[in-house]
Amino acid sequence: MNLHEYQGKDILSSFGVCIQRGIVAHNAQEAVDAAKQLTAETGTGWHVIKAQVHAGGRGKGGGVKLAKSLQEVEEIAGKIIGMNLITPQTSAEGKKVHQVLVTEDVYYPGETETDEYYMSVLLNRGTGRNMIMYSTEGGMDIETVAEETPHLIFKEEIDPATGLLPFQARRIAFNLGLSGLAFKEMTKFVTALYTAYVKSDASLFEINPVLKTSDNKIMAVDAKVTIDDNALFRHKDYNDLRDLREENPIEVEAKELGLNYVDLDGNVGCMVNGAGLAMSTMDLIKQSGGEPANFLDVGGTADAARVEAAFRIILKDPNVKAILVNIFGGIVRCDRVAEGIVGAFKNMGDAINVPIIVRLQGTNADIAKEIIDNSGFDVQSAVEFQEAADKVQAVLN
Ligand code: GDP
Ligand code: MN
Repeated sequence: MNLHEYQGKDILSSFGVCIQRGIVAHNAQEAVDAAKQLTAETGTGWHVIKAQVHAGGRGKGGGVKLAKSLQEVEEIAGKIIGMNLITPQTSAEGKKVHQVLVTEDVYYPGETETDEYYMSVLLNRGTGRNMIMYSTEGGMDIETVAEETPHLIFKEEIDPATGLLPFQARRIAFNLGLSGLAFKEMTKFVTALYTAYVKSDASLFEINPVLKTSDNKIMAVDAKVTIDDNALFRHKDYNDLRDLREENPIEVEAKELGLNYVDLDGNVGCMVNGAGLAMSTMDLIKQSGGEPANFLDVGGTADAARVEAAFRIILKDPNVKAILVNIFGGIVRCDRVAEGIVGAFKNMGDAINVPIIVRLQGTNADIAKEIIDNSGFDVQSAVEFQEAADKVQAVLN
C-alpha cells in the first residue's frame, strides 16, 4: 500500500524521526488556516505548498511551490488543488490533485547553500537483509546519480536479527561528510528511521531529500512510504490510509471480490488458479507472441460465482480481445468449474463478447471438456498447454 507524503511523515514522526512539519488542506481557505497555524507553532514565515498524489517528481511538474505570504498560500493552493499534475512518474494524463500539504519552510531565507541527502530503506532480496541506501546527492533524480556517478551511492546492509548497530549509524553519518552536532543528529535520524521501517512493516521508505538545516538539524523533507500489504492485518489503524482514488479501479474491485488481480497492458485476459500456474500461463502467452492483459489468480475455490466474478473483472479492461482460462482441478473438480463457466455465459449473455479458450486439467477433466464442447457457446476447449496458447493466437489473428 502506497501512502501520501503527509501520511508517511506522520508515521515517521510517530517513531521519533524529525520531519518538516505540515498540515493537509483540501481547499485554498483551509490552506491559509493551515499556514497561520504553522506560523503560530513553528514561527515559519514562508510556507511550501505540496500536491499530495501518489507520484514522485512533483517539484518538476509544478506541484511543489514556495509561498512567501498568506496571499501566495491562497493563490498557489487554489491553483494546485484540482489541477492535473503531470510528473515524470505519472501517465501523460497526470494525476488529479485533491489535497495539498502546507508545510513550514525549512530552507532558511537567504541561504545559498543547503545540504540535501538521499536516503532509502528497503529489502535486499538477494541477501535477505534490509538495506539503507544513501547519498550526498539528494534532492535530485537518484536514478541519474546511480547512472552517472554510482560511487556516490552508499549501501549499508542490516542483519534483521541484530537490527541497525550503532557503528553502522555512525558510518552513514561519516560517509555523508558530517561532523559535530550534525553527525550526532544524523545517527539519531538514521536509527529512528530504521526503527520506523521495521515497526511499521514497510517495504520501502524513500526520503529525498533529507535536509541538514543551517542550525544542524537533520529532517525528512519528503517521504515516500510503502507498507507491505501482507502485514496490514497487524496495523488495523493503517487501513484508513488507503486512498482508493490513487489506485487502479479494476484492481480495487477485484480485491473486494477476493480475487488476486493485477492489471497489465496486453490483450489476452487470463483466468488461472494458483500464482505459479498464472505466471507460467503468462509466460506461454508471451512465448506464443501474445501479451497478457492481466495476472489473475482466482484461488483454490474456483466455483461458479468466482468464475463469473473473474469474467466480469477481466472484461472491464477494453484491451482484452480473448480470454484464456487455465485451471487445475485439484481441490475443485474440473466439471464444477466447467459448469461455472457455462453458468457465467448464461448469466452474462452479451457481456461476454470475446472468444474464450478453456483448458481444464485434473479431476474429471474429461467430463469438463464434454460440458464445454457441448455448451453451444463461443468457447473452445484445449487439453495441452501449448494447444491452448495456439488457439488463443488463432482467434487473435
Ligand atoms: P518531489 O518533487 O515529489 O520529490 O517532492 P519534494 O517533497 O522532494 O519537494 C521537491 C523540492 O521542493 C525539494 O527537493 C526541495 O528542493 C523543495 N522544497 C521542499 N521543501 C522546501 C522548503 O521548505 N523550502 C524550500 N525553499 N524548498 C523546499
Ligand atoms: Mn522528493
